[in-house]
Amino acid sequence: MQDTPLQKSELKKSCINCGAELVYAPGTTELKCEYCGHIQEILPAESGFEELELKPYLDQLGAASHTERITMLHCKNCGANQHVEENYKSLHCVYCSMPLIVEDMYSEDWILPGAVLPFQINQNKAHQIFKKWVDGLWFAPNNLKKAAIDPQNTKGLYAPYWTFDAQLHATYTGQRGDYYYVSVPYTTTVNGKSVTRMRQERRTRWTPVSGSVNGFVDDTLIKASKQRDGVIPAKVARWDLTKLQPFDSSYLSGFVTEKYTVPLLDGHLESNKEANKIADKWVRRDIGGDTQTVSSMHVTLSEETFKHILLPVYISAYRYNGKRYNFFVNGQSGILSGQRPYSFWKIFFFVLAILVILVVIVLFLQ
Ligand SMILES: [Zn+2]
Ligand SMILES: [Zn+2]
Repeated sequence: MQDTPLQKSELKKSCINCGAELVYAPGTTELKCEYCGHIQEILPAESGFEELELKPYLDQLGAASHTERITMLHCKNCGANQHVEENYKSLHCVYCSMPLIVEDMYSEDWILPGAVLPFQINQNKAHQIFKKWVDGLWFAPNNLKKAAIDPQNTKGLYAPYWTFDAQLHATYTGQRGDYYYVSVPYTTTVNGKSVTRMRQERRTRWTPVSGSVNGFVDDTLIKASKQRDGVIPAKVARWDLTKLQPFDSSYLSGFVTEKYTVPLLDGHLESNKEANKIADKWVRRDIGGDTQTVSSMHVTLSEETFKHILLPVYISAYRYNGKRYNFFVNGQSGILSGQRPYSFWKIFFFVLAILVILVVIVLFLQ
């Protein structure tokens, strides 16, 4: 718990008219004052993305040049590390809704994000999507319906990811399989008599092959959050990365930002696995034929670079019967996914009502 002076990105963005806090307006390149409506344009970045060379960071050599100190709040309940640019009053954990305690604030280093995908839909719109979904649910507990009334339940989070770029080179040995068909006699019974017929059967001709493939692996996306209960479902965790903007902390204003908990080293190991999968695909395409076996493959990556990026998602956390439910809305596309609780009593009375109706019908018929 060190006291360090606040860095540039932590200075509050205040309104020049009234001094109130300026908040990023989703879908725009503007900061907006929520009190007087004053609008301040976010200046376009002077340079493009910063792809950082990987090796000095893995060796910790480059780590100092692109790191910054930020203030963090740690959720004691679910373990999420979150950073908020402003307004620490009445702050709740974006994942589990537990109150966060301002006195627990501490500062630590992070590798500066290289790019951010600004929110495209605002909190109200995300909440409407959530509410519409809840309204369409059968047997949802009333508490959930109630939770869906309060837009404060839907919070915007910038989730941390690593992306890796590399030049891939792979050498391989294996076998190329080409299908061919042969006519094979078989015996069957027709009108009680045993007859011999022919049928086509598939065979594979194998030829030994070897070779190499080369290519550029662009933007391998690796989750940088260890959040176990708050895993963003695959359906929601899909963003159009061509819309990434060079990092500007203005886009974070009014939203919660999670600090990566998957270290760069682990993220890199994960991206290597992805690179191997890509190499395997390229090798099989290179071998050709109808089917392939890869007996050996040697992958080398060079000119490796990485970025720490922030991607937008809305989360509605909600407790029911002691269990936590999270609902996610993609902050760019508006796609929703979530687990849902069932109300025991609603189902119980529904079944009971059907039984009563059946009994009445049976009695009536008699
Ligand atoms: Zn103002
Ligand atoms: Zn939490």
